[in-house]
Amino acid sequence: MKKKISILYTGGTIGMIKEGGNYVPAPPGYISEALNGIQELHRSDMPDFTIEEYTPVMDSANMVPKDWVAIGEYIAKNYSFFDGFIVLHGTDTMSYTASALAFMLKNLSKPVILTGAQIPLSELRSDGRDNIIAAAIIAQKFEIPEVCLYFGEKLYRGCRSIKVNASGFGAFASPNYELLANSGIEINVRNDLLLPMPSSDNVFEFIPFATDIMITSIRIFPGISPQLLQEIVSSPIQGLIIEAYGIGNIPESPQLLSIFEEAVKRDILITVCSQCLLGEISLEYYRGGSALQKCGVVNGADMTIEATLAKIMYLFTLKNDIAKKRLLMSKNLRGELSCELYSTLI
Ligand code: ASP
Repeated sequence: MKKKISILYTGGTIGMIKEGGNYVPAPPGYISEALNGIQELHRSDMPDFTIEEYTPVMDSANMVPKDWVAIGEYIAKNYSFFDGFIVLHGTDTMSYTASALAFMLKNLSKPVILTGAQIPLSELRSDGRDNIIAAAIIAQKFEIPEVCLYFGEKLYRGCRSIKVNASGFGAFASPNYELLANSGIEINVRNDLLLPMPSSDNVFEFIPFATDIMITSIRIFPGISPQLLQEIVSSPIQGLIIEAYGIGNIPESPQLLSIFEEAVKRDILITVCSQCLLGEISLEYYRGGSALQKCGVVNGADMTIEATLAKIMYLFTLKNDIAKKRLLMSKNLRGELSCELYSTLI
């Protein structure tokens, strides 16, 4: 059976043209023309699709959480009319948007696949054509109840993906979760890795992020200034991501530690992630991490920074008390971390 897929074009290199020496999103109408010109998308074994353009189309570097909410809202409003969604998006912040959508779109039973290109469709060697065709095949052939990202012959869980290559066609990776599918001669989706299909009691729900949440992330580095850190933490932030060394280590500086301790007392939700792409946080391993743990920070396990940021926004949107937020931060809500079984709690 031919499925019905909605393609939402939000911008990004895939639909860009060169203007005054820079790549910029092409004027409205361009992407419909470009996609209609891809013959393979119109074959009888491909899904029926409609194309919608986000307003304004943008370089994804200019996206803000309000745009994630608008994309989520589009999907929610059209959810019952389509069997799946393909979101054409710039690669620079694609993993952020994929992570945000994963939290906002609760109990998904259909695929939402983000894809794009490193070279515009308007150019000879564009990778966008293959990415869209494969995303459409996947949406037609497989039952995937989650937000994913397809790029460079690979299908990733959206909230596990990160951009790792600025110029290669394999622009993304999912260091801490296996690929959902590899596209070779055949495309085989790993059903054993997908989130479970929601039961009939767990109906689809759109939970738009509150967009006024103040979050920042700090990367620990040798010689980091406690004064500067104090300034950041004294500002009205609600969530803080510490990008620690390796397994969750930081310098054993009493000044740094007392800043974090104070911040925890002020109910700032602090989550520790790793600067390393692979592996997970284990705060008790070294004295620096252990001292941090005693301050009351949350162990970010093997979450990406992108997913952690989205999760903090989600938890502040839900308006639980800080103890519940800290608890939920360490639970596996959308397949974003490995250490716990998938929880349908929230
Ligand atoms: N600057 C572009 C964007 O993120 C990069 C791309 O799409 O590859 O919108």
